[in-house]
Amino acid sequence: MNKSTDDENSKELSTYRRLLALTSLVYLFWWFAVDALLPTAFNPFLGRFAVIAIVFAVFVMSYFDERVRQRIRFLAIASTWLLTAHYFYLFYGNSGDFNWVVGAFITVIAINLGQLSAAELLSYTAFVTALSSLMVLVIPGLEHSVFLPGIITIFIQANIALRSRLEMIKTLENTNRRFQLLFNSTFEGVLVHENGIIIDINDSLVHMLGFSRQELIGKNVIDLLHPDQRERIAEGMKSDILIPYETKGMTRAGATIDIEVRAKSFKDGKRLARLVTIQDTSDRKRAESEKIIALTMKENVRIRDEFISIASHELRTPISTLKLQTRMIERELKKTDDRVLPPEYMENFISLFHRQIDRLTELVETMLDVSRISSGRLKLTFQSVDFTAVVREIASSLQLQSEYSKQLLSIDAAEQIIIWADRSRIEQIVENILTNALKYGDGKPVFCKVIKADSEVFFIVEDHGIGIAEEYLQRIFERFERAISARHISGLGLGLYITRQIVEAHSGSIHVQSKLGEGSTFTVRLPLKATDRII
Ligand code: ADP
Repeated sequence: MNKSTDDENSKELSTYRRLLALTSLVYLFWWFAVDALLPTAFNPFLGRFAVIAIVFAVFVMSYFDERVRQRIRFLAIASTWLLTAHYFYLFYGNSGDFNWVVGAFITVIAINLGQLSAAELLSYTAFVTALSSLMVLVIPGLEHSVFLPGIITIFIQANIALRSRLEMIKTLENTNRRFQLLFNSTFEGVLVHENGIIIDINDSLVHMLGFSRQELIGKNVIDLLHPDQRERIAEGMKSDILIPYETKGMTRAGATIDIEVRAKSFKDGKRLARLVTIQDTSDRKRAESEKIIALTMKENVRIRDEFISIASHELRTPISTLKLQTRMIERELKKTDDRVLPPEYMENFISLFHRQIDRLTELVETMLDVSRISSGRLKLTFQSVDFTAVVREIASSLQLQSEYSKQLLSIDAAEQIIIWADRSRIEQIVENILTNALKYGDGKPVFCKVIKADSEVFFIVEDHGIGIAEEYLQRIFERFERAISARHISGLGLGLYITRQIVEAHSGSIHVQSKLGEGSTFTVRLPLKATDRII
């Protein structure tokens, strides 16, 4: 409110200043015109000099004296009255000469045009009508002229014209006020800029950014953005992109806010301006990320619960077997007198114990690996490794296991492929993939190929088993993800996750091709790096 009153006051001040300056100049011009054209006319030097000096002094003083500025309206009106009074004094002095009658009309019309309000014009009308009537009374012969009706006609016309001008201004003001109200009461921040320089800005944006309006007008629109974003957006502005985009703004306090910006160019007369709307999306963004966090947490809890259930099931199986076997030994021992069992019987038990303990150790190791990976503690010890040899060793040890002994596992590999890697981790990769191929291979043959190409080795394992549905293809490499029901085939859902982590730690990659019910092909690609380095 104060701001707009200040604006109005300064506009009024400059209007009256202009009026005063022009009035004194025009009067000075008349000085010379009268001197040149009417050299014998009555026109005392002191009077005309005093009038011009007073009017000009008010103009000059308005720059230095606050009191003059505050009374500028009154002083400007008083100056025009003084000028008129002086003119009528000369008019009287020249006894209503024809030239002075015309001059009176010109003076009155000129001053009428400078009247800014109906009240000013009305009081001036009264003042001049009184002076003109006085002239008619004191100057002989004037009562028989059209001087007074002429003056009155000028005033009637001036009043009508001013009134319609004022009405027009009022309508414009109302429209402008309504527009300003609308401009300022939108929820979105709005600004108008010309070549990046802000020329107008609404309250919402002023409020959003925390600057004052004065600080923002004249500022470069790019400066409102977060420094990281400036280059990108400046580029975009050049190419006139109209699609809404998301970026980051900076408040006066230095806080970063998420904003959505839309911009549109428009023509203001000959000038090309750009209307920009800015919406603060920080709250929406925060809510979205909180929602994502909540969902992720919920999903994590679900995965953890599922894992606990799978892991306890997996751990219970060997434990139950061990428990059962121990009971059996106990029972057998009770039956004997000397508490000694035949050696073949014992050997059988011991090998079974070993298997179950190995299984338990393997499960615990797998879980430990996951925890090592999550905390970044998975250390690799690089050395030269014969990849083909590793594949052959693992394959034959798997074939020895009773559950896979009947399944065909064929290997097609070059003699020696040396890579620079962590041997035990490479064994883990090969074992995981081959075990999976046999486990999910539906008892059908599994084909394994090791190929050296350029500076890489490819380990390809193809089975014709149950296959993987498309929606699981990427997920199986994530923690605890399984593409089959938990009870169907045992497993923790961690093997491929660990495999991928190890492969990537060796700067390699793993991917799968599969069709549900038709089988799967896993391909591991590992760089040979080692050979390069050793040679
Ligand atoms: P696990 O075998 O312990 O469940 P993995 O991480 O090794 O865990 O494998 C994740 C899932 O990927 C398995 O549960 C299985 O559904 C699927 N999968 C892995 N290998 C194969 C394969 N060769 N054929 C079909 N499905 C497979």
